[in-house]
Amino acid sequence: MRLCVIGDPVGHSLSPRIHRRFMERCGAAGSYEAMTVTAETLEDFVAQGRRGAWDGCNVTMPLKERILPLLDAVEPWTASCGAVNTVCFRDGRAVGYNTDGPGVVESLRLRGFAPSGQAALVLGAGGAAKAAALALAQAGCRVTVCARTPEMAARCGGVTVSWEDLPRAAAEHGLLLNATPLGMEGSPEFESLDFVQALPTKAVVYDLVYHPTDTALMRAAEHRGLTAVGGLALLVQQAALAFAYFTGIVPDAALCRDILQELEAAQ
Ligand code: NAP
Repeated sequence: MRLCVIGDPVGHSLSPRIHRRFMERCGAAGSYEAMTVTAETLEDFVAQGRRGAWDGCNVTMPLKERILPLLDAVEPWTASCGAVNTVCFRDGRAVGYNTDGPGVVESLRLRGFAPSGQAALVLGAGGAAKAAALALAQAGCRVTVCARTPEMAARCGGVTVSWEDLPRAAAEHGLLLNATPLGMEGSPEFESLDFVQALPTKAVVYDLVYHPTDTALMRAAEHRGLTAVGGLALLVQQAALAFAYFTGIVPDAALCRDILQELEAAQ
């Protein structure tokens, strides 16, 4: 099995490390590489995949939306999401999937958070926010999207609130998910984390940022005694779902937990 992650830049990607561990632990033979592919070389890469050079790939920035029109088919849920992070090349066809949204839901379930009937507040309205918002809604959450650009928030479905309304909205949501780069190394911090104080006492705070692994948002949540989940949890879970599409082997929860711990220890 010949697999890779494509993007630009892609050298920093943890996907090769995660997928190689899945291969080792699941006894799946093959290779997984990081390949620099730009918007200009993407069509050529997909053609190579169709011709049998690759069995599958993961897709990262800035190609997740651009690859969609180049594929032969996309899973219906992925089409509504408008972004692809996994492609399988089979029988000369390229088929796309999005495992980011289901990965959010599954990683929360593994942390004991059952989404059905819960209220989720998603911060941001980019690709990750949209995938998370759609998957959480499908899993039975009432979803509110809070973003600084209202037109972008509207395309994520659910109720939308303005950035200024964040502290008021926080009080009504048992899950807060940060899908903005705020708090990521090299990006600005949240101007204020006061909204964490407004969250209900049993709220879960999920920060999709994973560099650093321990963000100021997570620390504020933990300081309040709330459950904080970091972005590495999604990185491992979306990879596990992608690995299942590639190989037909579903990495179990214990294996995902082991790999998550290895990544956390290495950061
Ligand atoms: P994206 O498509 O560029 O979307 C970023 C979103 O954040 C946009 O809604 C943007 O608003 C908003 N934003 C940016 N700067 C902001 C600021 N200063 N204040 C308020 N909102 C701001 O990016 P993405 O791919 O969705 O990724 C978002 C985050 O999730 C990143 O940190 C990424 O690393 C993380 N992520 C993690 C995983 C994982 O596996 N853990 C997977 C995917 C993404 P505008 O539209 O107004 O610019």
